[in-house]
Amino acid sequence: MDAKGKFKLNGTKRNCAYVKNNVAENLCGISKKVRNKCKVTCDTCPAGMKVNEAEEEDTEFECTLYHVQGLAVDNSTHAGHGNVMKAIKCVDEKHDHDSYSLEDIPEDFDISFQSGKTKLTVSNQAVTQDMEHGNVINLKDRIATFVHESQDERNRFIADREGIQSLLIVRVTFYNGGTLEQPSVTGDQISTQVFNNLSRYSTCSRGKLSFVPASGNGINGGVMTIKVNSNMSDMVWNDAEQLVTDFMNNIGIAWNTYDFTSYVFPESVNFGGNGGLAYIDYYLSMFWNSQIMYKYMILHELGHNLGHNHSGDNAGGEYADETGMMGVGHANGCFNAAKSWYFGWYADRAKSITPASSSWSGELVPVNDYLNGSIQSDQQVVVQVTGVGETDLYLMFNRVEGVIDGKASINDRVTVISQDQDKGYSHQLSSLGVNQEHRSNNWEGKGKGLVVKVCSVEVGSHPCNARVIAYIETGNNDPSCCIENIWAKFVTKSGDTKNCNWLANQKEKNMSSARNHCNRPGYGGLPPASETCCETCQFNWA
Ligand SMILES: [Zn+2]
Repeated sequence: MDAKGKFKLNGTKRNCAYVKNNVAENLCGISKKVRNKCKVTCDTCPAGMKVNEAEEEDTEFECTLYHVQGLAVDNSTHAGHGNVMKAIKCVDEKHDHDSYSLEDIPEDFDISFQSGKTKLTVSNQAVTQDMEHGNVINLKDRIATFVHESQDERNRFIADREGIQSLLIVRVTFYNGGTLEQPSVTGDQISTQVFNNLSRYSTCSRGKLSFVPASGNGINGGVMTIKVNSNMSDMVWNDAEQLVTDFMNNIGIAWNTYDFTSYVFPESVNFGGNGGLAYIDYYLSMFWNSQIMYKYMILHELGHNLGHNHSGDNAGGEYADETGMMGVGHANGCFNAAKSWYFGWYADRAKSITPASSSWSGELVPVNDYLNGSIQSDQQVVVQVTGVGETDLYLMFNRVEGVIDGKASINDRVTVISQDQDKGYSHQLSSLGVNQEHRSNNWEGKGKGLVVKVCSVEVGSHPCNARVIAYIETGNNDPSCCIENIWAKFVTKSGDTKNCNWLANQKEKNMSSARNHCNRPGYGGLPPASETCCETCQFNWA
């Protein structure tokens, strides 16, 4: 293994392999620390030779923590694959993007850190090399490390979710003995397929986010093929990743020229069963052999780069949400309600509601009808439901039509998705058809339930829509799905025939009188006022 250090000798960055190879040449001027780190002794040094303390490395460095998510190998055009691997890595962005795995993570280490935001200050003593994981930060000795949140120094790699994004694809090759190993797909094939697949981002966002091929020396159609001077056969992905990053640094790659980068490795690199790996809210994704060619794979992994985490449900696990690319998405789908909210692509038809303050009634329109422009000004694509102390809920009307493909099981249904923050996991709580409702008990801890109910679904003409109500149930004149005709009649207790328009006027003049009419049974063979004048008889609408 090409063990890597973080130190300079005579002003040049060197690694442990260099030190080991040069011990015989009496390169003993290196510090004791470096010798310890590289596990070399200076037995061959001339007696009395002094350690050159000027070559002491920095005693600590700072790195940014990232979640890295892996997706199982995909051999279909769209996936329903489980998670193979999760890792936490720390990237030293100031030093050539050196990337470290974490080991011996203490139980009290807060793994809910924010990917791409939380920084770790690491003593060099905590750094080792490991045959399996490459560069490792060992957290066993907590004295050596501490964590702090970087609120305003968000690093430059935080992904933009709108605009034109350039993608550099690095196709990695190397010699294994006399054999050149390379991914089974050519640079041209990768370029054509990947950028064609990525046009889905442009489709889903109606052109707000698009990926274009990176350009520059040695880059064709966004793809650069490199030949690494190490045999990566059977090498674990962590090491392979670092070698490629080093290679790119050595050829003087200007990272800030490109928005996103994907490494594509030959089949013999050990990906541990993953087809793709991606950092959350960072520029880098990695693919095993031809896996980058699968649409769901590239869309999902770049979804991670764009800051999103997975979407499951409470029964089926981490990927079970079928309504978007971060769950068991369909390759020609878009993103679920929560991810759509945070992407912000439909912000002009997105609404936040607080049912504890005021009930809501409105129409949800599927993404397809947003994209084709048929949505009306009073309709929404995504609704956020908030409550004090509650995890936010997100509502969307899923319809498989036009440019939106998807599973039949979610067609023409309103999904209720929970997600507590941007970059958090989301869960599909309910998938509702007409007259079905979702209930969240003890909303805001006040003993009453939140109800989200689908009143109707109209798909005969555009815009298709689902009418939805959301309210806190009180058990007394709760909002209902009805739409009243103001001229519909009912009979009062005293035998007078009145209509809903009259009752609405009465409500303005004398609330308690109107309430009495609504609470009475039907007279004269007609239904009660509460049924006929169902909207007027709702007293907790705001
Ligand atoms: Zn994933």
